[in-house]
Amino acid sequence: MKNRLLMDLHTHTLASGHAYGTVRENAMAAAEKGLTGIGVTEHGPGMPGSCHPLYFTNIHYIPRQLYGVNVYYGVENDMMEDGSMSLDDRFMSGLDYSIVGIHATCYHDLGIEKNTENLIKCMSNPKVFFVSHPDDSTYPLDYEQIVPAAKQYGVALEVNNNTIRNGWKKNCMENIRTYLDLCMKYRSSIIVSSDAHDPSTVGRFQEAIALLDEVGFDEELIVNNSEEKFRKFIGFTG
Ligand SMILES: [Zn+2]
Ligand SMILES: [Zn+2]
Repeated sequence: MKNRLLMDLHTHTLASGHAYGTVRENAMAAAEKGLTGIGVTEHGPGMPGSCHPLYFTNIHYIPRQLYGVNVYYGVENDMMEDGSMSLDDRFMSGLDYSIVGIHATCYHDLGIEKNTENLIKCMSNPKVFFVSHPDDSTYPLDYEQIVPAAKQYGVALEVNNNTIRNGWKKNCMENIRTYLDLCMKYRSSIIVSSDAHDPSTVGRFQEAIALLDEVGFDEELIVNNSEEKFRKFIGFTG
């Protein structure tokens, strides 16, 4: 990979109830790794133990820069079985972006057709710019539909470094390769994230980079290798 990944747009803190660092510890870790930006993206209230919706309306209290790293306000919103998201629009207005993802604690497999329909509905929400780890055949998705829809709605699919590191999700490597191929075919964007649940893994991308190099992925389609590209992608005005 020629261009460095400069931003980690999917990270968790103590507030999620199942991660172990603070916002400042994560930002400090990002600074130490030479990142220019970090996204604070807690789960929505659908995730057991995660924060109250008010967490997201108060997020503007976090400084926009910590240790020289730009801080972005986000949520990893959980897709619900009716195609809604666990943090609703009222609480997302002050956020820079929403990620949407499928999590076992809030979603049961409804079959490939319904899962795909639900995810496309979530992607059509104007606040949603990213889909986290769409890589688990426990909740199968029709990538031939997902990728063109992502392109249509200006949404980037994620290559989740944790998935590749842990390797325990069903068919995950095969699924990631499938959607990377389609993203190149349709010229649809991706992000690479650590999905860190501890400061020690903020900015850890190496397993994902190895895969992207192996498949010869076009770096132009990676959103988080340029602050400017990312800001344009989400329409960030500051
Ligand atoms: Zn997730
Ligand atoms: Zn996450």
